[in-house]
Amino acid sequence: MFQAIYFTVIFENVKSNELESISSSISSIYKKSPNYQDALIDLSIQNNVGIIIFTDNGEQNQLIFNSSREYDQRIIETRLKTLKMKFEDQNIVSFTSTNTNNIKILNFGRMEVIDGQSYYFYTSAPIEPIKTTILNFRYLLLFISIGVFSAVLIGSYTISSQLSMPIVKMASKAKQITKTNFDVQFNSNEYLEVQQLSDTLNYAIGELKKTDSLRKDMFANVSHELKTPLTMIKSYSELIRDISGNDPIKRQSHLDVIHAEAERLEYLINDMMDYSKLESGLMTYKKQKFNLSETLTNLKNFYSNKHTDFKITLSAPKNAYIYADPKRIEQVLINLLNNAINYSRDKKVINIRLKLDESSALYKLEIIDHGIGIPHDSIDHIFERHFRSTVAKRTTVGSGIGLSIVKSILDAHEFNIKVMSKEGKGSNFYITIPNATGGI
Ligand code: ADP
Repeated sequence: MFQAIYFTVIFENVKSNELESISSSISSIYKKSPNYQDALIDLSIQNNVGIIIFTDNGEQNQLIFNSSREYDQRIIETRLKTLKMKFEDQNIVSFTSTNTNNIKILNFGRMEVIDGQSYYFYTSAPIEPIKTTILNFRYLLLFISIGVFSAVLIGSYTISSQLSMPIVKMASKAKQITKTNFDVQFNSNEYLEVQQLSDTLNYAIGELKKTDSLRKDMFANVSHELKTPLTMIKSYSELIRDISGNDPIKRQSHLDVIHAEAERLEYLINDMMDYSKLESGLMTYKKQKFNLSETLTNLKNFYSNKHTDFKITLSAPKNAYIYADPKRIEQVLINLLNNAINYSRDKKVINIRLKLDESSALYKLEIIDHGIGIPHDSIDHIFERHFRSTVAKRTTVGSGIGLSIVKSILDAHEFNIKVMSKEGKGSNFYITIPNATGGI
């Protein structure tokens, strides 16, 4: 566009500079070469310019050279007069004119005095052919522009529809997802990004589905968990009121049941409170250096007294200092021990082991049971919220939040927990904890 618009201006400028230098060549050829006519005709043909040299004796103009031979005498005389008038007091003139065919002509002339006589070296060039070129050029530009514009329009429409159509389809599918309907599947074999997006959406929907069903399960489990001890408490208190109130031995055993059930309720409610604290990020940790062996011994004694039908063993060094929040670590251990007890069946043996690995300065704490175990395909999900293995669902009631609390607490301490388990054989939950004997 720039070229098409400014081409004439630039061309005229260039051409007029060219004429200026041609005019000085004309004068030097004329002055130096006796054979100047041939040289000037060559110059005229090569540069497509007209050349006129004339002189005057004050009044009379005398033509010395005219590259165009077709002018007749009268035309030449008028022309010389006109040209001379242009010079007035100047030695150099540059102007444009139009010829009889209405073609624009660029003119350049210089006047030099040689041997006391004025010589006029004049050269001119038509600029019409360039106008035609420019016109052609403009037409071409128009066609090219229309062509390019249409190609871009069609190209961008095709590309944008290819880019946006799959997204539009996905958006309308995504609208089908509601609070209760997650049965939407995104299938896309379009370009890579859309495939990735649909994979991500499918994954997100899968997770939503899972969470939704786990949440439903949890509410069912929790209500069941709350209801069972409450029913027990209610019926045993009725028993005491109506029957065993005056029988101290029976009353005592009924009261024990009430106490145990109330304790179960307390654990469950604590779990739920911790869970909500973790969900809202309000769980706080007061870390300090303490002797884990002492905590383990206390817990071992507590659980041995509470569950007399269980054989609980502890193997640990006398002092094992770690840096952590003692209350939260105790909570972790209680959760793991409760699970070990809940998911044990005939073989009521629980082993607690604590060992220091000298080379890595890490304690390995193991809680081992010989109960129902965890099915192979459930192991990876065991620490997810609300997850309960199929065996556990069949055999015991639970909320499915205990292990997710355990994992969150240990994550906050940067302690690692893993599980090895075999269905029907038992489970080994083990935690690695840095030794803090040296300091911290
Ligand atoms: P809950 O025990 O209330 O269901 P948890 O989060 O403590 O919730 O445990 C999640 C699931 O992990 C349990 O439902 C059970 O399937 C499995 N699990 C946990 N500990 C054991 C264990 N010692 N033996 C077998 N399965 C276990």
